Amino acid sequence: MKEFHGISASPGIVISTAFLYNEETFSVPRYSIAEDEVDTEIERYNNAILSASEELTELKASITREHSEDEARFLDSHILMLHDPMFKDQVFEKLRHELINVECIVQSVIQELVNKLNASGDIYMQERTMDMNDVAKRIINTLLMRKRISLADLSHEVIIVTPDLLPSDTLLMNKWMVKGIVMDAGGRTSHTAILARSFGIPAILGLRRITMAVSDGDVLILDGQAGLVIVDPDQETLDRYKKKQTEYLKRESELFNLGNLPSETRDGKNIKLKANVEIPDELDSVHAYNAEGIGLFRSEFLVMQKGQEMDEELQFEIYKKVVQGMNGESVTIRTLDVGGDKLIHEIAQRNEKNPLLGWRAIRFCLEKVDVFKIQLRAILRASVFGPVRIMFPMISGIEELEKAMDILNSVKKELNSEGIEFSDDIPVGCMIEVPSAAMTSDILARKADFFSIGTNDLIQYTIAVDRGNEKITSMYEPFHPAVLRLIRMVVENGHNAGIPVGMCGEMAGDPLATVILLGLGLDELSMSAFGIPEIKRIIRSTTILESEEFLGTLMDMKSFKDIDKYVRNWMEERFEFIT
Ligand code: PEP
Ligand code: MG
Repeated sequence: MKEFHGISASPGIVISTAFLYNEETFSVPRYSIAEDEVDTEIERYNNAILSASEELTELKASITREHSEDEARFLDSHILMLHDPMFKDQVFEKLRHELINVECIVQSVIQELVNKLNASGDIYMQERTMDMNDVAKRIINTLLMRKRISLADLSHEVIIVTPDLLPSDTLLMNKWMVKGIVMDAGGRTSHTAILARSFGIPAILGLRRITMAVSDGDVLILDGQAGLVIVDPDQETLDRYKKKQTEYLKRESELFNLGNLPSETRDGKNIKLKANVEIPDELDSVHAYNAEGIGLFRSEFLVMQKGQEMDEELQFEIYKKVVQGMNGESVTIRTLDVGGDKLIHEIAQRNEKNPLLGWRAIRFCLEKVDVFKIQLRAILRASVFGPVRIMFPMISGIEELEKAMDILNSVKKELNSEGIEFSDDIPVGCMIEVPSAAMTSDILARKADFFSIGTNDLIQYTIAVDRGNEKITSMYEPFHPAVLRLIRMVVENGHNAGIPVGMCGEMAGDPLATVILLGLGLDELSMSAFGIPEIKRIIRSTTILESEEFLGTLMDMKSFKDIDKYVRNWMEERFEFIT
């Protein structure tokens, strides 16, 4: 029995057999050609592009029929890549120069591009290499007249174990038979993670070398919550997980039944539960879990996905679609939060020593005013189609908030003078995720219409512990007295100024923190949509009075370890469904 820990990309517990899907190992023949054979190779290439393009068009039509046009849209980029003239020029040049068969040339040109992207340090661009590999394989398979191995033909239940699942495979696979996905590569923003979440298939990604440790037919346990894969479990572990799985499914269906019930404490306080959204494809699950709006739309993923040249029109269309899709529930669009670990080319080029303390988020936007204005114009224009809130990330003090608001006002003036409509009721808020903002939240509250506490960064900066460094995760402690005190200060300052205070960091979706957050007086919590039912269940079973008493005890404690232990014991005893 062996255990592997990875990134929990989609929740759920499954026990099934492994299906090793390793298309990477497909071999490409290599042979020399004579100079007078170059034209034949070019013709073979052109024909292959034509039939691959037809194949993709058919694939797109069938995905659109079975799912939606939106889900098939990623294939547009594959079709564009197929016809990219620069790629074609590179292939032909290399072909003439190296005099090697064209499938081998295609493979090496793609490999060079992929290596470049991998070296860029840009996580999102690295994830795009999956699409490039997908396109290359399609061309090569067409050239070799090979049929792709298809996951659509799976006829028994399996957990797919693979180095890197391609988006098109994920879309076309037989979803009744795929019980889980386990991958060496991938992050939470990859297409595969997004699709797994929307199909409700538990997935653990970023396991690095799990494909080396698993053979076809091995029994696997996949614990999506814990990000844990157990290979060849012993009987005792198997029995324990079967029980856990039954409990999980029972709990899920009970939770789902909470559906439209209000998110209200037993003594009648309503806490809005909203969803965090990275890309618009997640709207379906936002509705499935009855989110009361989008509390954080991380717009930077969109821009990173579409490229930095994303113009006003493209942004407007996407914001408009999201706003319309929420049917009157409000959408909080956070302006670009690039930098830190969300590198884009321009920032990566600066090679900062301390990117997390560097040129990021609002600092980037206040310098790149043109980019900022384009985004603000697009958001303002989308506000005609439903309630929108604008939120600025990484505000560290009043100067930045005032500058950002000045730019917003100048954009409003521009739109007015151009006769372009926008709503005159757009709340403007700021994220509180830097300790200096929390400490001066009384000052910020006079300017902002709402606060949203970003605990992911607030904890990182308060305790000086890198949120991405696995060596010090035990120090990354949401219940640290300093963090609790800062949150309390922010809520009090916000409420004294009469503005609502929400939270959109991961702490908002952590069931262990819910009673504390009620006691602290948060008005809304925004989280991954699938986390909403459990948080709602806790809110509906408690009272504000009880939560305030609980918080009072914690605030008198000195050490985060004591608080953490106390909270775990208390919550497990108080709510039998918390494990
Ligand atoms: C946060 O910092 O808590 C937050 C919500 O923003 P992000 O995780 O995108 O930095
Ligand atoms: Mg943040």
